[in-house]
Amino acid sequence: DAEVVLLGRSNVGKSTLMRELTGHTFNTGQRPGVTRSPNHYDWTSEDFVLTDLPGFGFMKGVPEDVREDIKTDVVRYVESNAEKILVGILVVDGKSVIDIIDRHSGEDEIPHDVEMFHFLQDVGVSPVVAVNKMDKVDDEDDRLNDLAERLGMYPPWKQWQDTIAPISAKRGNIAALNEAVREHLHEANRDDL
Ligand code: GDP
Repeated sequence: DAEVVLLGRSNVGKSTLMRELTGHTFNTGQRPGVTRSPNHYDWTSEDFVLTDLPGFGFMKGVPEDVREDIKTDVVRYVESNAEKILVGILVVDGKSVIDIIDRHSGEDEIPHDVEMFHFLQDVGVSPVVAVNKMDKVDDEDDRLNDLAERLGMYPPWKQWQDTIAPISAKRGNIAALNEAVREHLHEANRDDL
């Protein structure tokens, strides 16, 4: 079966989004850093498996080496299953993502989100960035243009609606994400013909 994976830093709203996508209840706000193995679920109304991967990046009270291990596990999972993974949904927090990226951009530092985005591309998995918590963002277009630029796509972001999907998981506004993912799945089906 075709697979879609969900990945992102901790606290971006991954569990909330999983609940919206699958109808299952997940432990939102669960104790961070508790290494979870990948969870597989059926995406409502579509014919593929959705895999939830553990959150990575900074988590309060979780030592750096544990965080590194979690990220390594996520990368390994995607690498070893890249063949059947059609789309990687990278969930980010629209409210803070630009500040976090800029704070961690330096000569020998690549922000997690930027790194993961390029990693997905490198292993042949189409990235879709689910920009969550947009209900808390006022200057929507500016924010999304900034994000596009930092991920190496020329603004305006609207050119990239199959890659950048503004959502609010908590409010159930995830149409842009459904649309973007569907676009990639149909593309993949056409390639199979
Ligand atoms: P996870 O650690 O990535 O699984 O994140 P959770 O799903 O546990 O969500 C972390 C926090 O963000 C919780 O307090 C959620 O209620 C909140 N949250 C999730 N989605 C949204 C959203 O779309 N908008 C807002 N404002 N908050 C959200």
